Amino acid sequence: MTDHQDVGDNATVLIIGSGSTGLALAQGLLKAGVKCIVFEKDASQTAKSRDWNMGLHWGAAPLEAVLSAEGWSKLQTVQVDPNVPAKPNDTLHFLNSQTGEVMGGATVDLFYRLRRSKLRALLAEGLDVRYGKRFKDADFSDYEQTVTAYFEDGSSAVGRMLVGADGSRSSVRRALIPDNFENQRLSYAATFVQASFTREQAQFLRQFHPLYLAGIHPVGQFSFFGIQDASDETRPETWIFFFYISWPSSLEEQDATEDWSDAQRLQQLKDFAKDYADPWKSALEWVPQDHPVWYLRLSDWDPGAEGHQWDNQRGRATLVGDAAHTMTYQRGQGLNHSITDAAKLTDALKLFMVNTSNDVSAGAESGDVHLQEESINAFEVEMIARGGAEVRMSTTNTKMLHDWESALRSPVMTKGMHREKK
Ligand SMILES: Cc1cc2nc3c(=O)[nH]c(=O)nc-3n(C[C@H](O)[C@H](O)[C@H](O)COP(=O)(O)OP(=O)(O)OC[C@H]3O[C@@H](n4cnc5c(N)ncnc54)[C@H](O)[C@@H]3O)c2cc1C
Repeated sequence: MTDHQDVGDNATVLIIGSGSTGLALAQGLLKAGVKCIVFEKDASQTAKSRDWNMGLHWGAAPLEAVLSAEGWSKLQTVQVDPNVPAKPNDTLHFLNSQTGEVMGGATVDLFYRLRRSKLRALLAEGLDVRYGKRFKDADFSDYEQTVTAYFEDGSSAVGRMLVGADGSRSSVRRALIPDNFENQRLSYAATFVQASFTREQAQFLRQFHPLYLAGIHPVGQFSFFGIQDASDETRPETWIFFFYISWPSSLEEQDATEDWSDAQRLQQLKDFAKDYADPWKSALEWVPQDHPVWYLRLSDWDPGAEGHQWDNQRGRATLVGDAAHTMTYQRGQGLNHSITDAAKLTDALKLFMVNTSNDVSAGAESGDVHLQEESINAFEVEMIARGGAEVRMSTTNTKMLHDWESALRSPVMTKGMHREKK
């Protein structure tokens, strides 16, 4: 079979996107004995150098549910510091980033801090992932039976179900809801840095907290400072730190600075940090002027908003993860919801993709088709309520964290990292 011939059949789930969500879903299906293929637009897992780390807390149980026992046993290896197990509970401190004074904290049970690239590598083990496959469109005209996905390279794939796990700028979302797929732009922006330092500098920077710190500045800026990689505990000069500052930035300002170079973005952070306490102040002083940075404009997409309801084509298509609920990240919920989606969709798919003898269904019998529609509808009702509530809460949180007067009353301070009740 060449690259351009169809793959799949009516017992296959087609998953678009090999981020944490798509791969976690595929792991769940592998464990359940349901055939699936993951399609990823990038040429490989490591094609993009951009990496970050994510706090996994209430999403740990669903992750364990989708993984094999062997996969779950390796979770410690993908932590930013694999030498130190997640504590039974740990506190993310919030500093006044101008003075360094501790203002408050969010205590979290079993707070895993995972490197995204390493998590993806773990989640990809044993899966059928096709790289270099950029989803373009889908055809549902084989009414009630299958879906065909088309890719930019001219190839296609047939499946029983199409799952858009293709992130915040989802092409599957665009295909399902062409008039209302665009994210809402928010008037906040952030610049991110990953850097290593000398041995002494690294030891100094890590003394503030071994893993993570958040900061709120009276001018209305939010900041994060953490470890991205501390695998070699004996060589601090190899540690990679990950930090950012986010600030209110009007859409006009975002457009006007669209073409800024990395050097301009870094200079802006360095200027902000002159009025910061450590660790931000020293870290940004020490980063060389030509160091690469990464700039992100904040946006969201609320699946519960008016006009955002997609047609799931009688249960033959759905969205999960950031594709379904794009949220701001200061409250650290996106991955937890994404993994929850993966576990819940696995359960929904098992209802109609696996027959009672636990074999993969040979095809779409008419009874199965109704069960498919019911199962996916029920999955979406729960996911849209849960994810939508979190999108709204996270945006509220972002607004409050960038306003000194309201920062202490923000959801991350008052509710910690707990899941938003619908
Ligand atoms: C700085 C930062 C910090 C964060 N911190 C936390 C945290 O502490 N806790 C937490 O819970 N969450 C956190 N998050 C959120 C979390 O990272 C995301 O919610 C999660 O990674 C979403 O995963 P995903 O698989 O849905 O999307 P993605 O990771 O974006 O993956 C989507 C995949 O789809 C592929 N793709 C895109 N378009 C196509 C196409 N047309 N065809 C084929 N493939 C395609 C992409 O290349 C990508 O591989 C943070 C996010 C950021 C940016």
